[in-house]
Amino acid sequence: MAEKKPDVSGKRLPSTAYAANFSDIHPPLDHHEALVESDRCYFCHDAPCMVACPTSIDIPMFIRQIQTGHPVTAAKTIFDQNIFGGMCARVCPTETLCEEVCVREVAEGKPVKIGLLQRYATDAAMAEGGHPFTRAAPSGKKVAVVGAGPAGLACAHRLAMHGHEVTVFEARKKSGGLNEYGIAAYKSVDGFAQREVDFILSIGGIRIEHGKALGKKLKLKDLQKDFDAVFLGIGLQGVNALGAKHEDADGIEDAVGYISELRQAKDLAKLPVGRRVLVIGGGMTAIDVAVQSKLLGAEDVTILYRRGASQMKASAYEQDLAQTRGVKIKHWVAPKKVLVKDGRAVGLRCAYMTVTKGRLEGTGETFDLPADMIFKAIGQSYVDVLGGALELEGGRIKADAERRTSVAGIWAGGDCVAGGKDLTVASVDDGRRAAESINQFLKA
Ligand code: SF4
Repeated sequence: MAEKKPDVSGKRLPSTAYAANFSDIHPPLDHHEALVESDRCYFCHDAPCMVACPTSIDIPMFIRQIQTGHPVTAAKTIFDQNIFGGMCARVCPTETLCEEVCVREVAEGKPVKIGLLQRYATDAAMAEGGHPFTRAAPSGKKVAVVGAGPAGLACAHRLAMHGHEVTVFEARKKSGGLNEYGIAAYKSVDGFAQREVDFILSIGGIRIEHGKALGKKLKLKDLQKDFDAVFLGIGLQGVNALGAKHEDADGIEDAVGYISELRQAKDLAKLPVGRRVLVIGGGMTAIDVAVQSKLLGAEDVTILYRRGASQMKASAYEQDLAQTRGVKIKHWVAPKKVLVKDGRAVGLRCAYMTVTKGRLEGTGETFDLPADMIFKAIGQSYVDVLGGALELEGGRIKADAERRTSVAGIWAGGDCVAGGKDLTVASVDDGRRAAESINQFLKA
């Protein structure tokens, strides 16, 4: 393999290109478009779209409310089930959830644009201002929520509605979790994640303390002592290992960390990106980091995935999106060794993969790919900062259907619990479920 000096720099594009490249990927529907789209809905009895929604939003109901000219009422229908309805309208993989099962998709291959209609309604409500819910009379109970991501804030909001006082402890400087730090910039533009946090907090009764990471300044024992209940929505902090030789070399980047840096960058032109970028993984993070590398001006971006297209966690829609933006996807390829020169990664030796008798294995053939930057996007892992205080299952916190953990008085939800789906909407559902369970517990 021809080895060149790694070429990593910012300012690969004309300064005006960054704003255009990172603008809203799905421009919102205007009033007329929303009416036309809502008119396409059959308002199905036993609507399959509603069953497919992890937060069980009454989709035919809110679409009917839009159709009859009441988008703010439609938003209330959405927020009843999902207070993050605005972000979920932007980031939910609707093509594998509600829109996949929409009867118009099944019959005509063209679903009702549920996600865009949800965005139309929630944007209307947030533009109008105010908050759609009022708090119950003060209960005199205090709840600690750890983590100000979708699970934590959904839980905090529902608890505040029930009249409890909530203190949220968050390790980072900003609230929002992956909505603020982990989602591709073109899916959530104009500071929407922070506007949504402000909207959620406007119910009152929720205080957030930043710079408080569990296990460091914050001890679970103290929270149990000082509060009537505790909810943990602490996400995943570890990065999975590649298992390839030299994976700690300079030039190997964690995709989640890079996306976080990108989301917080004041000037995208200053963010260094390679000319030749390799991304290892098959999920949404792999797609997000690959597409954004391309939008930052990388010339050659390739995703490497060890199995076939249909086994990728990223949907076919997301794979198409990446490919239409010039990202190549190589299937049935796994990294074997990081090629290093002067302590820095300059490429990957890859193995062709196949499945034999149900087992994924190398074919014995290898090839080399040069790279200036290599992103690991192979998932995150739960780090047990609680020193074994809670029972784990499959490496994450064990929780039941109400999101109760193995210790009475402690609930958990979102990505940190066993079975966590790494989806914003699933985390919101966990937070709301836990809040209802905590409310029953506090009222008993
Ligand atoms: Fe409307 Fe499609 Fe849902 Fe039926 S399945 S209610 S047509 S969005």
